Amino acid sequence: MMRATQTKTAPKHSKLLIIGSGPAGYTAAIYASRSALNPVLIEGPQPGGQLTITTEVENWPGDASVQGPDLMLRMGNHARHVGAEIIADYIVDVDLTQRPFVATGDMGDRYTADSLIIATGANARWLGLESETRYRGQGVSACATCDGFFFRGRVCAVVGGGNTAVEDALHLANFASAVYLIHRRDSLRADKTNQARLFAHPKIKVIWNAEVAEVLGNGSKVTGVQLNHPLTGEQSTLTIDGLFVAIGHDPATSLFKDQLAMDPDGYILVTPGSTATSVPGVFAAGDVQDKHFRQAVVSAGMGCMAALEAERYLIDQAAKAVLVETVSA
Ligand code: NDP
Repeated sequence: MMRATQTKTAPKHSKLLIIGSGPAGYTAAIYASRSALNPVLIEGPQPGGQLTITTEVENWPGDASVQGPDLMLRMGNHARHVGAEIIADYIVDVDLTQRPFVATGDMGDRYTADSLIIATGANARWLGLESETRYRGQGVSACATCDGFFFRGRVCAVVGGGNTAVEDALHLANFASAVYLIHRRDSLRADKTNQARLFAHPKIKVIWNAEVAEVLGNGSKVTGVQLNHPLTGEQSTLTIDGLFVAIGHDPATSLFKDQLAMDPDGYILVTPGSTATSVPGVFAAGDVQDKHFRQAVVSAGMGCMAALEAERYLIDQAAKAVLVETVSA
């Protein structure tokens, strides 16, 4: 793997810099390479992104079953094969007020670029229990869409009270024999339509005012959860096969705070039907701007859009530069 080597005084310049190496970043790199933009992609702290911490992926078109890390390795190799330069660095500072844009890595290496694709993704929030970490991938998951299928005929629980938790519970009810929604309060923040669907579903039961205190297992898979009931001071044990944590995500956007328009949750705002951000020449693809779908295939699609939009932007900029030269000659 190539490690950043350029010094602070000699920034590496590219027409297109891509930050992030999940499905959005790699797909953008593939499309941009094939458009002869010679993109530079900075991998970030978790090369391959969120899919590298999942196991089987069964919804990536063309692969009935593929391991997440393997899929990301193949995407990275594909991007390299078509000419993308992939650099193992972690961007810690970005200046979008300058042209070209400037990004700085954690060792001080600098990158300048005429256009930028942000594909830094988002991270699922976890409860923070040691037992939750131990059973991740063995019954504990943060993606019902990815892993629900494995719980056909089993009993599952979802933690959370937002739209994601409710939609996860409804999705799981397609497979599971019973689904519990465990929420720490006595009302949900999910929208009313989702709530109505949830309450009407015969397979779903809501456990109010309860906190997951421990994930229980037999060493190789989840067998239940221990619940605290703060209002009564009681504890109880719930027998389940799978625990889905749906307590929100944090988009990795702190680098761009006060430089790009974002929603109150920190997701980058883009023009509808586009990946264009509030700064011309800067595009955002994948979970960093998408709080609704959070799927690899959607992120990959957005990576494609971002690369095509960056290409059009660069062509427009070049045409404008020629016009200015002609007028001033
Ligand atoms: P939200 O932030 O909306 O909800 C998170 C939920 O998790 C809250 O109910 C919160 O409880 C609970 N929670 C947070 N931390 C903990 C914790 N440590 N222990 C237990 N529970 C916890 O996140 P979502 O992912 O659900 O949604 C994010 C955004 O995306 C929202 O704006 C949502 O509306 C949107 N969205 C929209 C969809 C749609 O329109 N179809 C689908 C999915 C998401 P509490 O309520 O007590 O704070």
